[in-house]
Amino acid sequence: MKKAFIVQKKCDQSPFCPVKRVCPTGAVTQKRKFLKADYPVIDAALCIGCKKCVAVCPHGAVAMK
Ligand code: SF4
Repeated sequence: MKKAFIVQKKCDQSPFCPVKRVCPTGAVTQKRKFLKADYPVIDAALCIGCKKCVAVCPHGAVAMK
């Protein structure tokens, strides 16, 4: 099964990242900083490959491998 991962060069590190909200298994976490957030992190052990995160990212910064 393919798992989701963040393509960091496309990610704008928004603290309002919708990717972490749509994941049904809570596989996506993101540390907040002051104005920018860190890159989201996807836990491959929790990812079920549903691709909701791929569909919701406005920058196309989530891919499957
Ligand atoms: S593919 Fe689905 S389960 Fe995996 S990180 Fe994305 S939203 Fe979560």
